[in-house]
Order: sequence, then structure tokens, then C-alpha cells
Amino acid sequence: KELTSGQVRQMFLDFFKSKGHDVEPSASLIPVDDPSLLWINSGVATLKKYFDGTVVPQNPRITNAQKSIRTNDIENVGKTARHLTFFEMLGNFSVGDYFKKEAIAWAWELLTSPDWFGLDQSKLYVTVYPKDQDSKKLWIQNGVSSDHIYEVEDNFWDIGGGPCGPDTEVFFDRGQEFNNIPVDDPENYPGGENERYLEIWNIVFSELNHLPDGSYVEQPHKNIDTGMGLERVVSVFQHAKTNYETDLFLPIIHAIEQDSPYRYGQDEKIDSSFKIIADHVRTLVFAISDGAEPSNVGRGYVLRRLLRRAVLNGQKLKVNRQFLADLAPIVAEIMKSYYPELSDNMAKIQQVIKREEAKFAVTLNDGLKLLNSLIESPEVKQSKTISGSDAFKLFDTYGFPVELTQEAAAESGLKVDLIGYQKDMENQKERARKARGVTISMGSQNADLLNYQEKSIYKGYEEQVVDNCELD
Ligand code: ATP
Ligand code: MG
Ligand code: MG
Ligand code: MG
Repeated sequence: KELTSGQVRQMFLDFFKSKGHDVEPSASLIPVDDPSLLWINSGVATLKKYFDGTVVPQNPRITNAQKSIRTNDIENVGKTARHLTFFEMLGNFSVGDYFKKEAIAWAWELLTSPDWFGLDQSKLYVTVYPKDQDSKKLWIQNGVSSDHIYEVEDNFWDIGGGPCGPDTEVFFDRGQEFNNIPVDDPENYPGGENERYLEIWNIVFSELNHLPDGSYVEQPHKNIDTGMGLERVVSVFQHAKTNYETDLFLPIIHAIEQDSPYRYGQDEKIDSSFKIIADHVRTLVFAISDGAEPSNVGRGYVLRRLLRRAVLNGQKLKVNRQFLADLAPIVAEIMKSYYPELSDNMAKIQQVIKREEAKFAVTLNDGLKLLNSLIESPEVKQSKTISGSDAFKLFDTYGFPVELTQEAAAESGLKVDLIGYQKDMENQKERARKARGVTISMGSQNADLLNYQEKSIYKGYEEQVVDNCELD
């Protein structure tokens, strides 16, 4: 079957509607009353209130396509076939209503029935939690052959707080040509390191609640929480090598090509830049549409970082103008059937991106001037090396990742002193750590820092902020 992304999204929602679910529109990417999250990162994130019993839903069966942002996957973007910073999670949820039996039977029906997804059964694999033999039996009863079922210790869904429990994951076998590790490698199984097996769906049997003190208690009722990555399933239907060769990304990539001498699909490194830009611009567009803006803290910092990364990858593609804002309407066009608000908010989205891009361009330009003067300087010409402290200054003051400096240096036959660079980086981190400690103990009124400290007690946030600091 060939399905468009719009058809896949709709078919998922229609299927669960036919099973008595209410279709809920996607909630904003910005969490409401949930300080534990920087961004909505899954379908269940906005439904926590139902799961923990705070609010009783009208219908205990809910389905949605939820906009999600995951900054923990930033480094994976452009590298793996399957990771994005912005993606849509398709989900079905049971709030104390149906449980394992229906969840597994319906999952298999949606995936394999010719009336629905109609995927080839022989290409599907599932993993279960070893202690959860019920799920294994249920998959077998529904027709999954036992050699396509793996017991995996990691199959316990727990984000460190809130609803949790054993889970079962569904993988699509993309074929031998995607094997990226030896067959006898212990990681060669669905859910392991082999990119051949694409995780498409995660089904959580949410029965426990992970409390802030680390203990687990039974939830008032048993729930089902599932998440299927739209872009991944679309890549399956569109026979794409990665998430990107699909109708969700190709128009963006083609638009970037207009500004670049390079073509997509000819060189992996170059492709990676196309992918990073296409991914990051989607994240920027959706996040800004939901009210976030680039800044120096929290969510804003994530956006600033993504925008800079996109611009720098534009440089790698030899794009020589401020191009990001022009990609925004293309994202809106691709998404208009389900997210018409993007077009309504376009003026603001473009204004925010343009302003931020212009700001970064000034810094970058100064950095390029410095870099060029370094390359021309007698010391560098003699040593054929850009010093670690200069490379660090380029990074720290002008936002130049060291890889970019290396590339520019290499073009002039020069090297970069990476060891010196690392040393400066370590010193800087040490200083930052100390500065933070001092600021806090003095009870400074610096709102940003206090804000940072206060929120960083939550693990997800802390990781994201620490991550960001390193790029600052
Ligand atoms: P992976 O192991 O591939 O990183 P995950 O186990 O972290 O995925 P889940 O938290 O189980 O992902 O999320 C549910 C589903 O959402 C996944 O099965 C996948 O289809 C999709 N998904 C998760 N993270 C991403 C991402 N960064 N980009 C695109 N889709 C994603
Ligand atoms: Mg992941
Ligand atoms: Mg996984
Ligand atoms: Mg998973």
C-alpha cells in the first residue's frame, strides 16, 4: 500500500474512532501546569490528568495525533534514520477501560488488516517485558509467530515520574540491506542497535505510578497508553530510507536545494545537513506557532540552539542568504490539513525566525572575519594550526562549532588544535559550574539563573538545560 502522511494519520484516528474512541485534537507543545516537562514529548503527556485520576474524561477511550518535541534526540537528527526533534505521535488511550487484550488485538488489526494499514505480517516483530508473559500469549493468539517475539528487559516504560508499567513495542523489518551490525552481534534484535528494525509503535500497560520519592504505587485504575511515530510509519508506506524521503520532508528539502549548489541524495554528509535543517525548521515553526520564542532560557534556548544549528548547516550547504523564514510556509502547506493554524500564525512565525536569523548572522559574520584573519595570520601560516584557544573563542563567542572551524581550516590546508580546544572547553565548564554555585549561595536575584536552578530539579529539564549550556 502507498499512503500519504495525511492518510496514515487519518486512518489511525478513524480506526480507533471505530473502536469507540473520542478523537482529541493535538494539544499545544507548551505544557500547561506541568513543570516536569519542558516540551510536550508524547501523546500521553497531555493526558496525565486522566491517568492519575485528577480529571475524569467524558469518554475513557481517547485517540490523538500529538505534536511532540524531544531535545534528547537532537544529536541523532541527521544521523539515524528515525529520530526527529519534532514529530507527531499517534496514540490510543484507555483510562481504566480496556486493557492488554483489546490493546494488542486492535494493534494487530490496524497494522495488518487489508482494510487498514495492511502491512506484511512477516515484516513485523514485537518485543515484550520478560515478566509479562500475558502479552506474549496475546500476540501469539492474534497470529504473531513466536519467532517474531523477543523478550527484552528494557520493556518497562518509566520516564522517572508519573504513570508507568510494562510495555510492548512493534518493529518493522526494513530488510537486510539496512543491517548495520554483524548478524551475531548481541545487539542484533528488534530494539537493539540494528537499524534494520524500525520501532514504530510503543504500547504501554500503565498500571503503576512512579512517585517523586522513587516509590511505585498502583494507579487507581489500569490504563493503556500507546505511541506510534507518524513519520516512521509514513517512511514504511513510502518505502523511504529514512523519515526524510517522504511527503512530510521532501518539499522542504527541495526548497533548500534551491539555495544550494548541492543536491540531496548524493553524499551522506551533505544529506545530513539537509535533514537537520528540514527537521529543525519544522520544530521552530510548530513551537513558535504555539507561542514559544528563541531566548536564553528553557524552551527559548532550545529554539535558539535549533535555529543556529539550522543556519550553520545552511552554511555547510553553501546557502548564502537568510533562508529559514522562507521554509516556514512550506511546512505550513505540508501540514495544512491537520494544522491549519500554522498558516494563520505565519506572519508571526516568519517574523520571529527572521529576527533571530538576522541576529545570528551578525555574530556569524564577525566570527567568519575572525576566522579568515586567523587563517591569514603569520603565526597560523607558520604552524599550519589554528590554536585551541582561538577555536574555542570562535565557538564560545561566535557560535562556531569546532567541526565548522576544522572544515574551514582544512580548506586552507590547516589543522585545529583539538586538545587545546577541549582544555578550554573543560575550563569554561568548570567556571560555569562554580559561577552557578556561587550565584545560588549568594541568593542572587538573577531571574534566569534562579529559574534555571529551580526547574533543574526535574531530570528532563536539567538534561536539556545542561545540554544547552554547552552550546552557548
Ligand atoms: P527510539 O528507541 O527509536 O528512540 P523510543 O522508544 O524512544 O524510540 P517512545 O518513547 O517509545 O520512543 O515513543 C513512542 C513512539 O514515538 C516510538 O515508537 C516512535 O515511533 C516515535 N518516536 C519516538 N521518538 C521519536 C523521534 N525522536 N522522532 C520520531 N519519532 C519518534
Ligand atoms: Mg528514543
Ligand atoms: Mg525504543
Ligand atoms: Mg519505545
